[in-house]
Amino acid sequence: MAGLVAAMELRARGHEVLVLEASQRIGGRVWTHRFEHAGRSYHGELGAMRLPASHARVFATIEKLGLTPKLRRFLSVFQGQGGILDCAGQRFGFGALPPGLALPEWPGAAGLSPAATRFLRRLALLVTVMAPREVRDLAFPQMGADFLAAVQRHLAGADAATDFSDPAAILAGLEAVRGRINQAFHLFLSDILLKAAEPLYQLAGGADQLPLALAARCGAEIRRGAEVTAIELTATGVSVSVSRHGVAETYAAPQVVCTIPLPVLRRLPIAGLDARTRQRIAGMNYAGATKVLLFCAERCWEAEGIQGGASFSDRLLRQVYYPHNQDFPGPEGVLLASYCIGADAEPLAALPPAERVAAVRREVARLHPALARPGMVLDSVSVDWTANPWTRSACSTDWDPGMQDIVQGGVAGLADEAEPQAWRCGGLVLAGEHCSQAKAWIEGAIASGQDAAAMVARPFPALAV
Ligand SMILES: Cc1cc2nc3c(=O)[nH]c(=O)nc-3n(C[C@H](O)[C@H](O)[C@H](O)COP(=O)(O)OP(=O)(O)OC[C@H]3O[C@@H](n4cnc5c(N)ncnc54)[C@H](O)[C@@H]3O)c2cc1C
Repeated sequence: MAGLVAAMELRARGHEVLVLEASQRIGGRVWTHRFEHAGRSYHGELGAMRLPASHARVFATIEKLGLTPKLRRFLSVFQGQGGILDCAGQRFGFGALPPGLALPEWPGAAGLSPAATRFLRRLALLVTVMAPREVRDLAFPQMGADFLAAVQRHLAGADAATDFSDPAAILAGLEAVRGRINQAFHLFLSDILLKAAEPLYQLAGGADQLPLALAARCGAEIRRGAEVTAIELTATGVSVSVSRHGVAETYAAPQVVCTIPLPVLRRLPIAGLDARTRQRIAGMNYAGATKVLLFCAERCWEAEGIQGGASFSDRLLRQVYYPHNQDFPGPEGVLLASYCIGADAEPLAALPPAERVAAVRREVARLHPALARPGMVLDSVSVDWTANPWTRSACSTDWDPGMQDIVQGGVAGLADEAEPQAWRCGGLVLAGEHCSQAKAWIEGAIASGQDAAAMVARPFPALAV
């Protein structure tokens, strides 16, 4: 997305542009898989699937490409009907919280008011089922007395009957104590809870229509199967070595926008790069992800009252998403039977694809026994993004073990708004979601692609090589 957006913007400014793409597929981490069945196509998303309403650049791009009529609501975990929480060996609906459920304790929470205790148990449940392990590990031991006291103060006037089963009540409580939460928890709040609570959209027919339309409309030649193997900054610009169908080629240009994900870029020789950019490339954190799609003869979960939305589990599957608004023609449907992020993806990533699918089928049948019926699952596909040679991970992330510091004040975000969302070194401009303030979102890739194009248009200091 970053590369195609940069190409489109640069062409619009009159530049000559050539796009070098290692893969034969267009779209990178926007990757729609289509199951063909009885002459019809049923799709599921192996990469990006949700478009939050607040992501203005995504919707502006969709509008520009004429795709707005394809926008449909995507129901999140808080918006669907009938999703299941599978936690500590019990399964229950989103509004429930079984009294004896074993949940991690917040250290120092004993003796708090009944309202604060109820709030914290509900929050512990959400963190346990929804947060990636990296964030869970930082939430429970780290959020100290200050946080607990602030929760108690905020809830001093709470109604004795409030059970905080409405996610809005949890969000309001967390907003009120923002200045007492650590950075990892702030990211959980802003990137997971708040994103699940806002209106979300999807493209009917598949998210890949977005990069495919960009590729068709950007006005630049896209050379597929062209793997960049080395980059050299020279006195006159940038030289790029490419392996194309096994044949070595070299390209030279005054300026090059490079949107290669950093786990791939780290393995390439780059001559002439300054120390700051080297540091930025080396220092970025990344999280892996796995997804498993099951093509099902029937959307059997709908018979249980599930309409869109998701189920969450503290076990192997982590997240299950139910198709909704997908215009599937018959009773069939594509279930996102498992979506794991970060360390939670490691157990499934370690399995060969066939075993990965088998493990997910066994687990998801615990939630929906009808899926175990013979003939119910017609086909399947899985992805481990860390094994993808063109990504070697799923997304850049601000999670890191140092994120125990308390976020000060009523921060709107951790990033500096004025910071450019592309990085320049001589004639080389680095872009991609990793350079952006909306890491791990299409919005970030678009912002970065746009900033990269603007940077190319501006004069820059000559590089001493
Ligand atoms: C599992 C998953 C779920 C996601 N869910 C969402 C979501 O719901 N909503 C959302 O908005 N975002 C989501 N995202 C994030 C979103 O997909 C990314 O932020 C965005 O697509 C990244 O775009 P990019 O251009 O920065 O990188 P990429 O899409 O990775 O593009 C990089 C391109 O470089 C190519 N390349 C790599 N190496 C080379 C090389 N050596 N030579 C030449 N070409 C090379 C790749 O093939 C690729 O086409 C998700 C991502 C994943 C992985």
